Amino acid sequence: MTLFDAKPSVGRKFLVAGRGGLNLTHSEPREKFATRYTGAEQPENFWQTLLAEFDADALRQSAAQLGVETFAATSGRVYPRELKAAPLLRRWVQQLRAAGVQFALRHRLTGLRQDARWQLDFLVAGELHTHEADAVILALGGGSWPETGSDGDWVSVLEKLGITIAPLTSSNCGWEFPWPAAVLAQVEGQPVKNISVRAGETTITGELLITKYGLEGGAIYQLGSALRALPEPEIVIDFKPAHSVEQLVRKLGNCPRNFLAEARSRWRLSDAAFAILENLHPPFTSAEALAATTKNCVLKLTSPRPLAEAISSAGGVRWRELDAALMLRQCPGIFLAGEMIDWDAPTGGYLMQGCFAMGTHAARSALAWSGAK
Ligand SMILES: Cc1cc2nc3c(=O)[nH]c(=O)nc-3n(C[C@H](O)[C@H](O)[C@H](O)COP(=O)(O)OP(=O)(O)OC[C@H]3O[C@@H](n4cnc5c(N)ncnc54)[C@H](O)[C@@H]3O)c2cc1C
Repeated sequence: MTLFDAKPSVGRKFLVAGRGGLNLTHSEPREKFATRYTGAEQPENFWQTLLAEFDADALRQSAAQLGVETFAATSGRVYPRELKAAPLLRRWVQQLRAAGVQFALRHRLTGLRQDARWQLDFLVAGELHTHEADAVILALGGGSWPETGSDGDWVSVLEKLGITIAPLTSSNCGWEFPWPAAVLAQVEGQPVKNISVRAGETTITGELLITKYGLEGGAIYQLGSALRALPEPEIVIDFKPAHSVEQLVRKLGNCPRNFLAEARSRWRLSDAAFAILENLHPPFTSAEALAATTKNCVLKLTSPRPLAEAISSAGGVRWRELDAALMLRQCPGIFLAGEMIDWDAPTGGYLMQGCFAMGTHAARSALAWSGAK
């Protein structure tokens, strides 16, 4: 068995994820876990079935077998105790080598041809090398962070075989918003915490980060698919989700003017919320108007940040191209796993868990396929 990779080493995005502590998976119940995955045309119950085969516990156990213990943080996110990716990757590669897996690095897949067996064309130091195989698992990633190797170049390789692919787009990414200079001067780099944020029908409780170009943060990442579905992407921020408009008005008491300045202390508005309300709206002439805007502050977003910067990508090989074994219907013997398929999930460990579970399923399917030949 040979593992080919275009880069001089494997698992580069895995290592990048390690910079954030390596959020391997999540500890929530499997039924809820399965609802985190979205994507056009996903087969019904696909994720329930997939996670029943390889769930968060299975992933934690496989890390433990490699000597890497994990823990669930209060958020439910699961990390290695050391909060590092390198030890896990190193031991995983050692285990594969010990099992007889060959590593062929600096091999860029440029073509797939069907003969009696599959012919895989690789570019190696500028020369074409061809390898043969009965079963092939492609796990070539999406299009984010291309410097880690997942540059989406495989799209043309599969399109030549007639495979349909939804365009790779940014997911779990920041969005652009033209902040007035005064907002950036006051609160660039600051978080807006304890808010709820809505896009279309989806509401998320979380936080946002004000950046030079717009917004980052968990809440906007989780709203990605809802935002992409809107003809004109906009979010509605509720800076005081625990209070109704009436309660906020009552808390302002009989304040006759300077509503926003009073609200800053009486409602404990964060600096960022204050700066947004002060600079994006004309002066408030009543407590009611301020309370209503505080609970429904609309920001019309310009566009998602570029794919190269995103944590993950949406789009990829369309589900209709795959059977239940994750094999390409048009290319018997070629199996797919990971971000190159048209699914999406929020941050929280769902991305890695999805990739590991798909990898497990594709590997079992490929073994069964080779054994049957
Ligand atoms: C900054 C950052 C932080 C993240 N943190 C987390 C996290 O904490 N938790 C989480 O769940 N997810 C996280 N993710 C997402 C997660 O890393 C990815 O979803 C996951 O790595 C995707 O796995 P994959 O196997 O599909 O592809 P990848 O990990 O992208 O691997 C694809 C591999 O294919 C190789 N390849 C591509 N094209 C070719 C070719 N033509 N020929 C040969 N080889 C090729 C690449 O070199 C690469 O090694 C993070 C992502 C980023 C960018």
